[in-house]
Amino acid sequence: MRLVFLGPPGAGKGTQAQRLREELDIPHISTGDILRQVAEDEEDPLGRKVKDYMKRGELVPDDIVVEIVKKRLSADDAEKGFILDGFPRTEAQARQLDAALQSVDRPIDITINFRTSEPVVMARLSGRRICTSCGANYHVKNMPPKRDGVCDRCGGPVEKRADDNETAIKRRLVLYNEQTAGLEEYYKKNNTLETVSGDLDVEELRGVLLKLFDRSGLIKHK
Ligand code: AMP
Repeated sequence: MRLVFLGPPGAGKGTQAQRLREELDIPHISTGDILRQVAEDEEDPLGRKVKDYMKRGELVPDDIVVEIVKKRLSADDAEKGFILDGFPRTEAQARQLDAALQSVDRPIDITINFRTSEPVVMARLSGRRICTSCGANYHVKNMPPKRDGVCDRCGGPVEKRADDNETAIKRRLVLYNEQTAGLEEYYKKNNTLETVSGDLDVEELRGVLLKLFDRSGLIKHK
């Protein structure tokens, strides 16, 4: 089962993917998480370049991101499928992803479009915290870690993301509308698109997604 999660920042894609990967038994591949790791290496010119784009809320150039995704998709654990979160973000990325998957006869099964309203996105992003070690998502009000500043999953530090500030959030939303929102049409044309409401709370949306995957035969019943 090969899934793409499409939607603006703060739509809940990462939160849902982190939970669903267990039910579906497939890896969660977040380009944001991978790029944050790349950006941590200040010694590496690529790391410095990526960090500069990310902190301003700009998109990292397609060639860099596509290369990273292709490499990640060729790992053994992605053979049984994957959830792609935050990729593709441009039509060029979508086309290159399709070409790579078609060449091995493993096309995308479902694209989930998390349609989400702007006030919900703003409220989620301004309170969002992430574990800098494993990438787990939290929210100061809706989903705080059990111990303040400590990840429930791995014990790592839970912090605000460098790009969850007002200026970068605004830029990311503009870029989403300009470059990514059009992918809804792209995936509608190849008949893989399913739209859900990203405004639902975590558990409600999880229920909607599980039903959808069950209906599509993606969940194996023991
Ligand atoms: P995310 O964690 O998905 O919100 O991504 C955080 C940041 O990483 C984005 O604002 C971009 O700077 C960069 N990024 C993540 N995925 C992509 C992508 N597919 N194409 C370009 N830049 C990306």
